[in-house]
Amino acid sequence: MVARKPGATEPAKCPVCNGTGEISRTVHVGRKRRVAGEQTGLCLNCLGSGEAPST
Ligand SMILES: [Zn+2]
Repeated sequence: MVARKPGATEPAKCPVCNGTGEISRTVHVGRKRRVAGEQTGLCLNCLGSGEAPST
């Protein structure tokens, strides 16, 4: 029988993407930085894993 402590072994969520591994960013184009739309990209903080990197 293995007893697991709640929350003890669960990895922390990435605070940047909130555990999703993706972040939506606004895309600007041109000199006037016109908003071209939104783009979903990989979270650079956790590199898409959704887990907060342990440093
Ligand atoms: Zn992240």
